Amino acid sequence: MSLPGSTKVIMGAKLNLMEHPAYSQLRPVTPSASVVLCPNPGYSSLEGTNSWIIRASEDSRSIVIDPGPEDEGHLNVLNAKGEEVGLILLTHRHHDHADGATRFRQLTGAPIRAFDPSYCEKAGELVDGEIITIDGVTPQIEVVATPGHTRDSVSFFIWSGTPHESTLEGIVTGDTIAGRHTTMISETDGDLGQYLESLAILEERGKDITLLPGHGPEGDDVSWFARKYIDRREQRLEQIRGVWATQGREVSMKDLIDAIYDDVDPVLRGAAEQSTHVAIRYLLAQEREESGRNSAVDTGQI
Ligand SMILES: [Zn+2]
Repeated sequence: MSLPGSTKVIMGAKLNLMEHPAYSQLRPVTPSASVVLCPNPGYSSLEGTNSWIIRASEDSRSIVIDPGPEDEGHLNVLNAKGEEVGLILLTHRHHDHADGATRFRQLTGAPIRAFDPSYCEKAGELVDGEIITIDGVTPQIEVVATPGHTRDSVSFFIWSGTPHESTLEGIVTGDTIAGRHTTMISETDGDLGQYLESLAILEERGKDITLLPGHGPEGDDVSWFARKYIDRREQRLEQIRGVWATQGREVSMKDLIDAIYDDVDPVLRGAAEQSTHVAIRYLLAQEREESGRNSAVDTGQI
């Protein structure tokens, strides 16, 4: 299991459609978690969005995580495969995960729950640490807030029964860890500091647990992916510090990107720039924090 080299990953634009299962099929990944791949391939969604159906094989009801975009065909497949859908959950607000939720609610009658209350319908918002149980569905779902990609990003820990007394089968990570490519941090409400903290939680709790990502193939060890993502971010931060040290803080975005990415497809330059902006914002915030601490020490506040 390996991720492609860092430069090309962000950039993981080269899709290998052959290695991915067909669209609109229900594919079991763990005993309680099956995936239906939505036919919405693209740069940020790779082969498409993974919609997860959670239920034990004997259950007549199900929970659907991330119905995906408003794609009537896909929603109909989910509705049929989920039998009686009792609850719709969202990992975060992005359109390729959440836009189909309202229509799917119309089709199924199921309430919608998300971390951001404005996305909820007929039910309250998700709470960090909460355990979700519904009648007729054996697996239980632990909600773990994992902000960073967006402020409202959560991960769902899929337990075969009661949490900590049954098997942790997998973790639905949304876009916090999404298959083989680097996750973009939203420039509007994303935060690299929070993202690194969220990855640390997933690294700690995800040892040998199956990765059930929002895009791309599943993996067999959430920890491994989390560590790779952390390392790659740290490496980028180190590179930016290095360029600042040699070329000064006034270095242009173009020169900075040329220095840290050895090979950027012009189409993906915008993504590289966004990612670099987010990294710089993080570095500057860290420095402010540092100097705040130092001046507090100087003035005897600490
Ligand atoms: Zn997203």
